[in-house]
Parts: sequence; C-alpha cells; structure tokens
Amino acid sequence: ATMSVASILAETAKRMPENVALIFGEQKITYAELWDQTLAYAGALRARGIGPGDAVALLVPNVPDFPRAYYAILSLGAVVVPVHALLKADEIAYVLRDSGSRLLICAAPLLGEGAKGAAIAGIETLSVLVPDEMLAQAPFARLEDEARAADPIDSYVPRNPFDTATILYTSGTTGKPKGAEGCHFSLVEQVNTLSGDAFDVTPEDRILGCLPLFHTFGQTCVMNLGFRIGSAIVLVPKFDGATALSLLNAHQCTIMTGVPTMYIALLEAAKSNPERPPLRYGMSGGAAIPVAVIERMKEVYGIDIHEGYGLTETSPVATFNHRGRPTRVGTVGQPIWGVDVEIADAEIDDRIELLPRGELGEIIVRGHNLMKGYLHLPEANAEAVVDGWFRTGDLGTKSDDDYVTIVDRKKDMIVRNGYNVYPREVEEVLSTHPAVAMVAVFGVSDATRGQEIVAAVTLMPGQTVDPSDLVAFAQEQVAAYKYPRRVEILEVLPLGPSGKVLKRELVARFDTA
Ligand code: ATP
Repeated sequence: ATMSVASILAETAKRMPENVALIFGEQKITYAELWDQTLAYAGALRARGIGPGDAVALLVPNVPDFPRAYYAILSLGAVVVPVHALLKADEIAYVLRDSGSRLLICAAPLLGEGAKGAAIAGIETLSVLVPDEMLAQAPFARLEDEARAADPIDSYVPRNPFDTATILYTSGTTGKPKGAEGCHFSLVEQVNTLSGDAFDVTPEDRILGCLPLFHTFGQTCVMNLGFRIGSAIVLVPKFDGATALSLLNAHQCTIMTGVPTMYIALLEAAKSNPERPPLRYGMSGGAAIPVAVIERMKEVYGIDIHEGYGLTETSPVATFNHRGRPTRVGTVGQPIWGVDVEIADAEIDDRIELLPRGELGEIIVRGHNLMKGYLHLPEANAEAVVDGWFRTGDLGTKSDDDYVTIVDRKKDMIVRNGYNVYPREVEEVLSTHPAVAMVAVFGVSDATRGQEIVAAVTLMPGQTVDPSDLVAFAQEQVAAYKYPRRVEILEVLPLGPSGKVLKRELVARFDTA
C-alpha cells in the first residue's frame, strides 16, 4: 500500500476546490489555490534536488507559507522538520544537524537566528516573506522567486505508510531535544480517526489557528484536521488574547483550539470587549486546564471546553472528551478509536505491570498513533517503549468507563517532608481565586524539607492581592503538607512557543539553593 500526508490537502482540493482553506489578514486562499501554490513550491524544491527521504527544515510562523512549504516538502516524499520559532542559532543548528536536514526554509522575521543556525550546520537557507527592501541589504534566495522560475510538480509522490513524514523535536527537559519520527500512516490515521469519531468539525467551520503549526498540537489538530475536512483556518501568527478575540469575531469563528493559557487570555480580553463570537465549542490540550477556567468559558463565551491529552510522541492525541458523549470536566476523556491507554506501575522500569482501574500510576499508550521512535537514540527508545507500550511520564488514573484523569507529570511531582505533592491539585485551588489569572506551582530545594512549594501567579486585569492572602486561601482548602509556603506575583509567566508555562524557568529563577 502507499500513503502520503500530502493526500490530506490534495484530496480536499479536488473535492472542495472553492472552499476557503486559509484566512490571513485580508487574504482568503481557497483549497484549489493552496494546492496549486504547494505544487509550485514543490517544483522549486525539486529543482534544488530535494526528493524522497530528504529532510527539509521549516522555521516559519503561522502564515500561509507554513502549510505551503509543509505540504510541498511532503509532496516530494521528503521529510518535514519543523523548528520551534523561539530557538537560538546554536539550538537551530543542533536540530538541523541531528535531523540531517538538507535545507532550511526560513521566514523573514526569523532569519536572524535561522540563517545563522543554517550556516553553523553548513546548509543553505531558502527564505520566505523577505520584502524587496530587505533583499537589497542582504541577498537571500527566495522560495517564491524560485517557485516562479521552476515548473510545478504534477502530483504528490506516494510513500510507504511507515516512511517518515515528520521529525518533531520535543523540548527535552534534560539533555538535548529528541527528534520524534512520525510516519505517514500515523499522521493520516490520526486525522481520519479524529474526524470520524472524536471531534466534530465540518466544512462550514472556521477554526482559529492560534496554536503554532510547528508544534504537534497545531499541526495535527488545527492544520491537518481542518484540511482533512475542508474547513477554513484563520491564521494567527502571534497570539494575544485581545487580537484572538477580535479575530474570532471578525471571521465569525466556530471552533477554538488552544492550550489553557489561551483560554485564560480570552477570558481577560472579554473584560474589555463585549462582542462574543459564534463559537460552537473549544478544544483544550497540551497542559491541564483548570476547572475554574472551563466554568468561566461557559459563563462568558457560552461554550463547553473539550479537553484532550497527548504528546508529540503520540501524534499527538491519545484521549479526548469526545463530542456527542458527556464531557467530564477534570478528565482528559476517553482513548480515541484504535488507541489503548492504560495505567502501569510507575516504579517498574523494565516491564509493564498494569494496575487495576482507579489506581494511580504511569499512563501508557499503544496504537496507530505512536511515533516510529526517537531519531538515532536507541537507549531513549528502549526506555520509552516497553513491551510495545509508550511510557508517557505522566501520572494518572482511569475510571471504570475509560475516562482518564491526569494527576501530573512524574518529573513535576514535589516531595516535601517525604510527602508527595502534585502541583496540579494546588493550581486548581488557586485558580478559583477571583484575582488569579494564571498559576504555576513548582518545587524549590529546601535544606530541611527536601523541597518547598512555591506558586507563581499572574493577576486578572485591575486586581491586586497580597501574596500572604493567596497562601491563606490555599491553606484553607488543602492539607497542610500541600499548600504553597510562598506565592510570587508576576507580570507574566514564562511561556514556551506552544503557549505552555515553562516550569523549568520558574524553578531556575526561584530555586536559590
Ligand atoms: P517536554 O518539555 O517534556 O518536551 P513538551 O510540552 O514540549 O514537553 P509535548 O509533547 O508538547 O511536549 O507535551 C506533552 C505533555 O503535555 C504530556 O506528557 C503531558 O504532561 C502534558 N499534557 C498534554 N495534555 C495534557 C492535559 N490535558 N492535561 C495535563 N497535561 C497534559
């Protein structure tokens, strides 16, 4: 059999050529136009000698050139290596070298670090979005120019289902980032499964594309899923709550897909903008969304938030609060079709020992959504995949009717005075305080107790509160060993490129031992 992720766009362009695929500022691009542009970009890459199996890196924000280049690379049977937009030159060079990328496609605003990174790795940079004025100062090869000069390709190259389609680098809390290889089969199966069962997305839907497309969540759950169905995606190159709300309204978006910090920002934005978009529902994942945020989204925007769970290594969705089934707030829903999710003894490393329903352990995943593995890291693979199960590193439970609850990441657990404290539980409590917008709880070293609990919070617009009041608020609601002894009020929390709070940076900042 043959298969290609490129078929996702090609098929929809054939069936619904006039549907709008992308909305970007004033531009509306139909599926037929987007596919033609993709074939033209592929022509330019072919002229540069890119072919099946070659890796091509992509450092582009959420602009139409992202999907064009992404699908152009895949159409040639080549492998896409999306690069996180916040990386510095040396980090970019690491990803380029590790993936064996032959070329970097880089957008103008990111060329400073990107071109430097490519030079360190010894490969060429092909730019997009470089204005003529800028070209006069520094001569960059432009993909658009090369596409005009080359012949477009006719169609996409069929691949073996298990050939690598993408290499996505996980941020890697210890050591170097790891490249997770996704194959055509997993990526296509993922959107087929989600569109057939878990999600409910139609060609009439307009989806806010605010998740970065270089990250697995945006790539699969916004871009590939939206294109599979024929929906319109409103591209948001840089997220902030006020802009997101005005785009939701301007384009009458019906679906919002985001990480929890985006919903929190939308709630803040709602205070100064009374207009509400015609949203049908929201999807959240990537990190735990506080129950208080789900409740406020219902009050303020009138929508249910369907929470799901997954990782880069699981393409990403493993579980979801399916549309059409009762959503259970506080859980990440049930395994998607064809995927097994179980709870294993987290203490046993070298084999899988399943735990009974209801017991707390490590979440493990098996099914069509698993990555092929981490690129040339046999030891990391042997640790991560045991008896065919992927060990997620997350702790959780599963109910009798298959709803999964995430307790926390194994590595985020705080041990204070010998007691295990799961930050997420404390975050849930602090989130219910009316002055609190965002909260992250983490452990810092403590000479007598091993670790001490610290909460970093940001406040809702116009609110003030004394840190000691927040300590007292938490103290009233959780056991004495769990409440934070210290609360830091910050202007902003450090966020990663996908909008998740970077606890590592908070620990580095506040752990003074
Ligand atoms: P790392 O820093 O470990 O590389 P990452 O955030 O870059 O992480 P991803 O693959 O994006 O890597 O994130 C996967 C992780 O996100 C999961 O292991 C889990 O800890 C967390 N996660 C995803 N969805 C949820 C959810 N609904 N609730 C709680 N945690 C979640």
